[in-house]
Amino acid sequence: MSSIAFSSLHLKPAMLKNLASLGYAAMTPIQAHSLPPILASKDLIARAKTGSGKTAAFGIGLLSRLDTTALQLQALVLCPTRELADQVAKELRRLARFTENIRVLTVCGGVPFGPQLGSLEHGAHVVVGTPGRLLDHLRRGSLDLSSLQTLVLDEADRMLDMGFQDDIRSLIAAAPARRQTLLFSATYPDSIADMSAAMQQTPVEVSVDEDH
Ligand code: ADP
Ligand code: MG
Repeated sequence: MSSIAFSSLHLKPAMLKNLASLGYAAMTPIQAHSLPPILASKDLIARAKTGSGKTAAFGIGLLSRLDTTALQLQALVLCPTRELADQVAKELRRLARFTENIRVLTVCGGVPFGPQLGSLEHGAHVVVGTPGRLLDHLRRGSLDLSSLQTLVLDEADRMLDMGFQDDIRSLIAAAPARRQTLLFSATYPDSIADMSAAMQQTPVEVSVDEDH
């Protein structure tokens, strides 16, 4: 596939400026295939190998939908590990560099609970975290998913391998039924198809094998 510039998408000027400043000129193949349906608010299953630029694919999508005038939690990204959540949050902050006042918070297990309570109370537009700890916060009332617009499952196959399926289902039960759900995975076993059927509405399926 020949390279396609980000400027061919209907992105806000601030986002195009962010992308240019990062040196992202052309979309990677998974971005070129997934961004049009993502920006059209469709549900999506995207399969592409590690290093193909999946974070920016969902990141540009969820950041483009944010209403920054309200400090409400509008996007939740579920990741299998704290290290991956930190990487995703870092990339989201880079993508939001010139967009004013976007608050991205990480909420993961393996770190003290107390400081997370204060951060969540202060509020965020985007939370990136691991399912178990997020469910702890949901159950004690410190996480409110009622204004969620976009839910992302990043590395969904790994989250299933790690046994997060029930935690993910419990989190989703607390999110609005009307939302965009984006599922990213490196592989596509039957368990991913089952998970998609339980949480997505007529998802667009995108699969990329080539290198970028
Ligand atoms: P994945 O989640 O698919 O493993 P990442 O989202 O971590 O991949 O991206 C891999 C690398 O590619 C990152 O260093 C990121 O900054 C870079 N990258 C992403 N999109 C682009 C792009 N359009 N142009 C150039 N580099 C990009
Ligand atoms: Mg990734």
